[in-house]
Amino acid sequence: MKKLIVLLLAVAMVFTLAACGNQQTPVEEPEKTATESAYKGTYDVLKMATNAAFPPYEYKEGEDFAGIDVEIATAIAKELGAELEIVDMEFDSIIASVQSGETSFGMAGMTVTDERKEEVDFSSSYATGVQVVIVAEDSDIASLDDLEGKKIGVQLGTTGDFYATDDYGSENVTQYGKGADAVIALKGGDVDAVIIDNEPAKAFVAENEGLKILNTEYAVEDYAIAISKDNADLLADINKALEKLTADGTIDAIIAKYIKAE
Ligand code: GLN
Repeated sequence: MKKLIVLLLAVAMVFTLAACGNQQTPVEEPEKTATESAYKGTYDVLKMATNAAFPPYEYKEGEDFAGIDVEIATAIAKELGAELEIVDMEFDSIIASVQSGETSFGMAGMTVTDERKEEVDFSSSYATGVQVVIVAEDSDIASLDDLEGKKIGVQLGTTGDFYATDDYGSENVTQYGKGADAVIALKGGDVDAVIIDNEPAKAFVAENEGLKILNTEYAVEDYAIAISKDNADLLADINKALEKLTADGTIDAIIAKYIKAE
């Protein structure tokens, strides 16, 4: 009788173990399949082309890169299982770098425009930018109309550059490699105004005495990530990651960390 009980117990244990084993498989597999199929591609390293002179979106803190775009890109790369590598270059070189495949995507407070859309694809927009005008505190320029015939500084190849050239004539526009250099030119009196995105404008005005931002919105724009037209999978994956990071509050938290509500 004792032997029979031991035998029955042993049989019961085998069944229990087998049952556990069987249960584990269906529990694990859908999870695995879900992570595997969530994204179209697999990525080891994602290279971000940027111009790290555009606070608070991207700038250097000693040797490190910081800013909204840097943190969002880091979160996207993590979501896609990749390591993020940042490649710092002139803003004007970013699209060519993405097109050639030298970098995986461009992220630099980049405005979505119809012209750029002919060259690259854009992700969903993750932020809004506004073109504004910086002048000296004692300037007689008070409105966009006052810019007529004045010397305007811009950053080469930016929307501020395109609008200023279209509206006020290329003979009145001086292009600088960096926004900060246009601001130095304004301080030195080489130009009368600088047209640039609102958040970098605020950062530059805070760093430099004697400047102010005109209370006028020159243009409201959407920022998005530029991706090669040959990389539809990465575009879909970045959009999916952005959607997730938006839904779980990550994007808002990153933006709030750098841009304090007024
Ligand atoms: N938003 C502007 C553009 O896309 C400026 C971007 C920048 O200078 N980094 O042209």
